[in-house]
Amino acid sequence: MNKTIKQEEYTKLIRKHVGDNGHVFFYWKGRIALYALLKSMGIGKGDEVILPAFSCVVVPNAILYIGATPVYVDIEPDSYNASFKNIEAKVSPKTKLIICQNTFGLSVDVDAITDYAQRKGIYTIEDCTHGFGGSYNNKPNGSWCDAAFYSTQWNKPFSTGIGGISLLNNLKLQDKLEAINAGLIKPSFTEVQMLSALIFIRKNLVSTSNYWLLLKLYRWLSKYKLVIGSSGGDEITGTAIPSGYFKAASNAQFREGIKNIKQLPEILERRKVNSKIYTDFLKLHNKTYVNEKWHNNHSFLKYPILVKNRHDFILKAEAAEIELGEWFCSPLHPVPETELYKWGMNISEFPVALNMSRHILNLPTDTMNVEKVIAFITQNIDLIL
Ligand SMILES: *Cc1c(COP(=O)(O)O)cnc(C)c1O
Repeated sequence: MNKTIKQEEYTKLIRKHVGDNGHVFFYWKGRIALYALLKSMGIGKGDEVILPAFSCVVVPNAILYIGATPVYVDIEPDSYNASFKNIEAKVSPKTKLIICQNTFGLSVDVDAITDYAQRKGIYTIEDCTHGFGGSYNNKPNGSWCDAAFYSTQWNKPFSTGIGGISLLNNLKLQDKLEAINAGLIKPSFTEVQMLSALIFIRKNLVSTSNYWLLLKLYRWLSKYKLVIGSSGGDEITGTAIPSGYFKAASNAQFREGIKNIKQLPEILERRKVNSKIYTDFLKLHNKTYVNEKWHNNHSFLKYPILVKNRHDFILKAEAAEIELGEWFCSPLHPVPETELYKWGMNISEFPVALNMSRHILNLPTDTMNVEKVIAFITQNIDLIL
């Protein structure tokens, strides 16, 4: 594939955040990067892939699209992520890959998991869609595993509207991955135009006082599938690969990435500062908080809280103009609990993930006005668990 000048420039900027090893590749979305990586590892029918039972449905989708079997692991209440201990308990002779998920900015136990997997001859991929720019024990997120993938979808660490990146650290897989990438379909002119429109709307969402009005417009457009948002209908109703899935990135994404990645260091810093404030506050009020032992290795894309009644809490937040996130409102977001069996998940096996998904909301960590968020949660402290 010919590399454009924009792509070269974008690659250089990305490399500053992900370490000096490995190779960077681009895709239309993060999930497509995962799909390409799975294929490059030769994973297929009869193979098992371990992942947390608290993720985005597009992750098990990629596993199912290549004919492999997702094996879910319950999460821990203080990290919202699967521990090494629980992952190890699920390893079988069929295990070919462990997905280490960076959840809200934290790749829990990625050191222990990669160490173990290497000894066992099991591949590892870091789902770094929440973790771009952060680190674990001073090593960049994404540099620990055989490979990692990142998302630049609109709510991720930095955005290109939608977009995906893979980082290949195990260079033995390079030829295979490049051969697979050669099969990427070019996005159509219309798709690139729609993406550019989406980027335009989003930019105006953050920079004008019409935020809430435009957010409603955006949601309305998404509902009627007029914007290419996160997950299309096919991807959340079943496990067959949608047509035209394996799509390449476009220059529009490279241009947008070059602009937005430059603000990342400042935003990452603010996320850490605000999250410490949230932790101190929640701890003081005896509420569920992210254990301080994780803070050093956490980049806090979102700050998870648990509330008694999510619907009521969201209405109050909208009235107060507090922008909350809703990840992950299902163990495989956004699939309803009753449909999870289609993804091979028996929810009774994952009590922690199930409970968290029923009560979770996320506080904004990049806000310039953390006092406003604290004032809001102070007022509604009885609704928080
Ligand atoms: C957003 C997300 C993805 C997928 O990223 P896309 O770019 O939307 O494909 C994968 N895993 C997790 C945990 C995510 O939150």
